[in-house]
Order: sequence, then structure tokens, then C-alpha cells
Amino acid sequence: MQPKPFILPLANTSWQKLVNIVALLLGLVVLLTLSVTAFVNPIIFCFFLLHGTLCIFFHSSMLHRYGAHGQFTFTNEKMEKVFYVMTWLSMGPSYLHAYGYALLHLTHHKFSDKEKDVHSPCIFKDILYLMSHTTKVYRGIVQAGNDIEKTEFQIIIDEYRQKHGKDIPNWSLDGFANHPITKLTFVAIFLSIYIICGAKWYMYLFLFPTQCVMGPVQGALVNWFGHHTGFRNYDTDDESRNTPLLNVMLGGEVNQNNHHNNPDNANFGEKLHEFDWIYWILRIFHKANIIVLKNTQLDKKLSYR
Ligand SMILES: [Zn+2]
Ligand SMILES: [Zn+2]
Repeated sequence: MQPKPFILPLANTSWQKLVNIVALLLGLVVLLTLSVTAFVNPIIFCFFLLHGTLCIFFHSSMLHRYGAHGQFTFTNEKMEKVFYVMTWLSMGPSYLHAYGYALLHLTHHKFSDKEKDVHSPCIFKDILYLMSHTTKVYRGIVQAGNDIEKTEFQIIIDEYRQKHGKDIPNWSLDGFANHPITKLTFVAIFLSIYIICGAKWYMYLFLFPTQCVMGPVQGALVNWFGHHTGFRNYDTDDESRNTPLLNVMLGGEVNQNNHHNNPDNANFGEKLHEFDWIYWILRIFHKANIIVLKNTQLDKKLSYR
């Protein structure tokens, strides 16, 4: 295997470097504020943590693993609807259209770290540009509606149909869930919680905005670090990496090297330091006969080595 650096030397210009440094500092300030909040206002701390955890669980399991990759199926349609509503409620103001997400993500897999990749840090060398370009493409897909089938995305749609024998999930309530009024209602609810719980000014400044854009922030962290910083287990044809420290926060999603090597496997963690807690929760749902995990070696006593 051709050794690749732990961290890619990406940013070329001073502007790109500045944007990345500011983003990193902002992230550290949010973490610092969260740590202070744990002592000053435990209710806001728990609210932030609960929202972030539920958001990444449903974001990862329903939009990514189920919607984009079909790594599991539901044993009945009602449970699919329950999980879908939970995804909407937990992502709230930053809920992402399932169809748009899946199409965007499958494009990323098809052209991983190549010119047509919609959110590769190898192409978009500052995180702000990466996020703004991803948002632009995502909005274009959602606004195109059924017309998307006549565009360059057609090949992705056809490949999904061929592989899974069905269309990419396109939930009927997504229009309502993504409507600005629906999203603003969630923002108002979050703001009310902050007011009722007596949040301090710095919580409004750093924690509240983060909660309003939680889904895209989690996505940006995965797309950036998972293709920029970390170890490689497999010599895949891209720059994907496994970023151990972020697994706790992002539930195995940052093990992008494992995931790109085998996108059909619901378990993104192959070693102990790559622990994928989202997969182990999905295993509980599998054992409870709510979902059926596919292409996963469930009989292994312990899949870590
Ligand atoms: Zn990736
Ligand atoms: Zn994926």
C-alpha cells in the first residue's frame, strides 16, 4: 500500500488557511462553551447533548445508511414511518431532504475526491467553500424535483434502482419538513427552551446557532476530517481516512476509509478505536426484529480486531 500522510496538506492560499483556522477556533470555542455550560446550566448542556446525539443517530442511520446505501430494511412499513418522523423531529431546523441527501451522497461515493465530488476537501480546500458548494448542489437537486431524472444525476438514480430494485427513498412529508415555516418553528421552540432555562449570553452566541445548523455541521465534520485527517486501513482509490477521536461525537461516520472500502457494510468500525456506536444500536433494532441488517457479518462474536 502506498503510504499517505496522516493529514493532507490542503490549503494553498492565505485565504483558505485563514478560513480553516477561524473554523477550527470557532469549533474549539463551541466545545469550550459546552464544557462551561455543563457546570453553569446542566439543563441546556443536556439539551444540547441529547439533540446532537439524536441528530447524528438518525442523520447517519436513516439518511445515510438506510436512504443512500440501503444497508438495512424495515420489517414493516409502519416502523419505517416512525423512524422517518423521529429523523425529522431530531434533526428539526436542519433536517435534510432524504432524496436530495441520498443523491448528493451517492455522487460523492461515485467521484470520491475527484473533480466531480461535491464535497471533497481535496477539491474545496477551505471548509466554508466545501459547505457552500454542497448546499448549492443539494438545493439544486431538491428544487429540480422530478426533473432531476433528466440531468447528469440520472446515472446515479439508475445505478441505485439496479442495485436495490427500488427507487431512492423520497418521503412524502419532506416538503413540509423542509418548509421554512416548519424550520423556523423549530428555531422558535429551541429559543424558548433557552429562554425558559435561563441561558447565558455566550450560550445564545455559540450553542444556540450550532443547534440550528446541527445536521450540516455534523455532515461537514464527517466530509472534511473523513477525507483529510486520520489513518487508512485500505488502499482505496481516494483520500478517505478513519479519524478515531471524532467517533464518540459522530458515531463511526468519520471512519470514511472503512466505509468507502465497503459501502454496503453497516458497521463502520473495524478496530476498537474505530468504535461505531450507531451500528451497535442498529444491531439492537435488528435483534428486536424491527430492521434487517444486510451484508454485515452478524455472527461474528466481536468484529473488532
Ligand atoms: Zn466519504
Ligand atoms: Zn456513504
